[in-house]
Amino acid sequence: MAFNIEKIRAQFPILTEQVYGKPLVYLDNAATTQKPQVVIDKIAEVYCHYNANVHRGVHHLSNVATTAMEDARKVVANFIGAPSVENIIFTRGATESLNLVAYTVGERFITENDEIIVSEMEHHSNLVPWQIVAQRKGAKVVKWAFNDAGELDLNQLEKLITPHTKIVAVTHVSNTLGTVNPVEQIAQIAHRNNVMVLIDGSQSIPHIKIDVQKMDCDFFVFSGHKIYGPTGIGALYGKTQLLEQLPPYQGGGEMIESVSFDKTTYNVLPYKFEAGTPNYVGIIVLAEALQFVQSIGIEQIATYEQELLNYATQRILSIDSVKPIGTAANKASVLSFVVNGAHPYDVGMILDKMGIAVRTGTHCTEPVMQHYGIPGTVRASFAFYNTKQEIDMLHDALVRAVKMFS
Ligand code: PLP
Repeated sequence: MAFNIEKIRAQFPILTEQVYGKPLVYLDNAATTQKPQVVIDKIAEVYCHYNANVHRGVHHLSNVATTAMEDARKVVANFIGAPSVENIIFTRGATESLNLVAYTVGERFITENDEIIVSEMEHHSNLVPWQIVAQRKGAKVVKWAFNDAGELDLNQLEKLITPHTKIVAVTHVSNTLGTVNPVEQIAQIAHRNNVMVLIDGSQSIPHIKIDVQKMDCDFFVFSGHKIYGPTGIGALYGKTQLLEQLPPYQGGGEMIESVSFDKTTYNVLPYKFEAGTPNYVGIIVLAEALQFVQSIGIEQIATYEQELLNYATQRILSIDSVKPIGTAANKASVLSFVVNGAHPYDVGMILDKMGIAVRTGTHCTEPVMQHYGIPGTVRASFAFYNTKQEIDMLHDALVRAVKMFS
């Protein structure tokens, strides 16, 4: 499919909605993305034609659903460059993937006085699970601070790593600052020191071509709803040799090989980590979303979105009294800012009344707010269905909002 913005927008039915009688300008894509018609249709297709529980049925529908689910696993593996389907574990989303890794890595590898390096820009879901592990194991979470531009310093990482360090947990793209972190170099530094690396790909997967083997991360997580797929489905990639060493996260059906009161043995990868009926509808529909993205081309998407971000940065920051939060040299699709003399929430409320959906607050990154000593930011985040006209509308609405506050 060629990159034709009108054709692309026409595939997202929600984009023609009106709010308060005004055209919807949806700039909250870092929170969740809108869904194309093919994704919406796929949900109905599964329920209308082959809904049946997977993996344990001999009947036709169960086989069709199982094949569709396992084909979807191939699509996910291919999308992120994983070597095999056994590396792909389906979860409810990035948060569950992160908790799974923190819990199982904690059980298997972390003992008293060990250290877990977590960057200061992490979403709470890549900080709190590690704090829980640290508390359980008597280990320590070590903060990898960013500079005022919102960039992480690799020399600083070298200094933070000690013989006690077990894992570095860092986001690929910051959901608040937009920073794109140098994940390949981070992995190199960590591995040189025998330290594992987890990359939170929640905000990179819709914007950047992902190749987990090139990145050489040990774990990579993402959520389907951030990449035009449904809610309640996500994935975890892990290296085979590590996943094999980790204990199960939850017990139940699917994750076992055999069960008796005396001894239970566990299933092979990836099923060892997929207890219970999986969200097979979500999985099948997620694959549809990924194929939709592939049909447009992630490189084309990235180029277009970079243009949007540059345009938005230049337009929005031309307004007096608007100050950016997050000015890293390498950014993707997120523009956070504060308005002098106005609480972000009030700015967001005014923009909303003009039909513009942005997010305000701490974006589940309270340590980022503490770094800058601010209560929150206004965040506009872009997807490839957004346009320069929409950014102009944000600009004009913001000019009006600023006037109201001055
Ligand atoms: N990590 C980052 C960087 C995020 O932006 C988010 C969601 O905003 C998450 C993790 C959590 O994702 P989910 O709520 O889909 O589990």
